[in-house]
Amino acid sequence: MEEDIDHILITEEQLRAKVRELGTQLAVDYADKMPILIGALNGATLFMSDLIRACRIPLSIDFIAVSSYASGTRSSGVVRILKDIDRNIEGRHVLVVEDIVDTGLTLSYLIENLSARKPASIRICALLDKAERRVADVPLDYAGFRIPDEFVVGYGLDYNDLYRNLPYIGVLKPQLYRS
Ligand code: 5GP
Repeated sequence: MEEDIDHILITEEQLRAKVRELGTQLAVDYADKMPILIGALNGATLFMSDLIRACRIPLSIDFIAVSSYASGTRSSGVVRILKDIDRNIEGRHVLVVEDIVDTGLTLSYLIENLSARKPASIRICALLDKAERRVADVPLDYAGFRIPDEFVVGYGLDYNDLYRNLPYIGVLKPQLYRS
């Protein structure tokens, strides 16, 4: 597995420090709001679990799964809900937790869909931001790292469902995929 990684982009230590910083900030901003954090499956699972442990306030969690990539490493622009959230979010303060925002198409669909359910507020927390690839205008209220246009894996992010369990964010050797 590790031999498929070209180089490490963000180390375990950098991830830990950034997640702690984000969690602390969220705890301040949502102190009395009892937010509901909605994690995007499957990529945001590791980020979500570390983030909530760093955010020491009353909160609840839920998960949503949307398909964004039909196959390969590029966004198809076609978004489908594969698993919906289980809770009613009307009147709740919602924070969508994403692993990575690339074109922003997935997230803009998600925000539109969740907004229709009348939450009190809706914000976005993304670990990785590939800003130069943005197509849809989605404001990232909380962002971990801005990264270049390279295909990354690890810390929840996959390629063909592998590499999610790497503890760091790494760049996959380009010869392993076709973009
Ligand atoms: P977007 O709709 O913003 O183009 O794509 C968002 C989704 O594409 C992310 O939730 C993630 O699943 C996937 N994605 C985008 N860039 C990467 C990347 O560099 N590595 C991996 N593993 N997934 C990515």
